[in-house]
Amino acid sequence: MNKLLSKYLFYYPVTLAKGELIAFYRRGYEERQWWSARELEAFRDEHFDRIVRYAVENSSYYQKCLSSFITDNSIIPSPDLPTLSKAQLIDNLDHIRAKNAGLFSSAKTTGGSTGEPVKIFKNGSALARERCATWRSYEWAGVSVADRQVRFWGVPHSRSGRLTARLIDLIANRKRISAFSINDDNLYKYYNDLCSFQPQYLYGYVSVIEEFARFIQSKQLQPPSSLVSLITTSEVLSDSSRALIENAFQRKVFNEYGCGEVGSIAHECEYGSMHVMADNLHVEIDSEPGQPGEIIVTDYFNQVTPLVRYRLGDFATMGEGTCRCGRELPTINKIHGRAYDIIRSPSGTRIHPEAVIYIFEGIQEKMPVFKQFQAIQTDIDAISVNIVPNVSWDDSFDVALKSQLVEAIGAEFRFEVNLVESLSREKSGKMRVVKSMLD
Ligand SMILES: [Zn+2]
Repeated sequence: MNKLLSKYLFYYPVTLAKGELIAFYRRGYEERQWWSARELEAFRDEHFDRIVRYAVENSSYYQKCLSSFITDNSIIPSPDLPTLSKAQLIDNLDHIRAKNAGLFSSAKTTGGSTGEPVKIFKNGSALARERCATWRSYEWAGVSVADRQVRFWGVPHSRSGRLTARLIDLIANRKRISAFSINDDNLYKYYNDLCSFQPQYLYGYVSVIEEFARFIQSKQLQPPSSLVSLITTSEVLSDSSRALIENAFQRKVFNEYGCGEVGSIAHECEYGSMHVMADNLHVEIDSEPGQPGEIIVTDYFNQVTPLVRYRLGDFATMGEGTCRCGRELPTINKIHGRAYDIIRSPSGTRIHPEAVIYIFEGIQEKMPVFKQFQAIQTDIDAISVNIVPNVSWDDSFDVALKSQLVEAIGAEFRFEVNLVESLSREKSGKMRVVKSMLD
């Protein structure tokens, strides 16, 4: 679709109808990327203080655990405050939710990568700010609102979910390539789709784009001439993956780091630094300076489900020094922690772990009977599913779960459901919710 048509006929009107005043906020985001570190620090202090006070006033959970830190005048020092883990968020969702802010909010089911899907709420203005920060960072990659995008992503398995996804893709001027099933036949088809769609950028999971890059390289295919850049997300981008992708597409890769709960957290600039979206959130690293530690975020603008010092379960190091791009937005580097395995079917189809997570999130939405899940491929045709139930388990749940898994992942597998009290972690402490014991 024509870019201007897409932008002014679809994107802005549809987001506006949802209460997202994107055009209203855009300029502020454009300007703040050039603020000095001192200006950004003043912004941080003001907004951190503001959201903490708001949370204490409006949420019974925060009132209980944060009110003793509130003083009349002085700014609240962030490192003194208790943190919020994902488990605490899930267990206290109703108490965390602000009592006066539920009317015009959208639900987001998110966070499945740790095996604990969680449904949080955000209002239109917070969502608009999230999008503004994202679009600003995409401009660093040379693309802008409504540029044509090919997206390597999950596809919902329900019919209504697929229709909604198709509609959203149309509004956003993008074409979706399924990360669910990747094999050589599909890759040829996807390549042809890509050439006819002529996208300005490709967006998606590192491992899927990498697989596609490997295919393009092995068949000596040319990337579409319209392509400006690639944006990878959701997984660690290793140096070797980056080199492979850049080589195959002859374009620069820009890495994005974010999560569903707060949106984009950091994004790579033209000079390769991961700049934090410091005018949307406060990012802390739980460690001594210069050492890797867990990432903790505070969302300045979510007034429906306030997230104060929320632990992400990912690890990074705080960046030092200034970036050659001239932006003084803080930087993080060496992000690690999200490790994934690909599931392989007997017929040779490769299923991306995010796709498996997507399926469980979808099942959980329809049938909220479990807190956590883990899928382990134990044999070429066997997947063992560990479930931490949150209701007393019934055989009918077992049957329903298996039938939905067969429908979504395929009848080639035998599914075994085990009820467990908690999921086991990797030696590193990370939770691996999609795991393969093959190889
Ligand atoms: Zn930079």
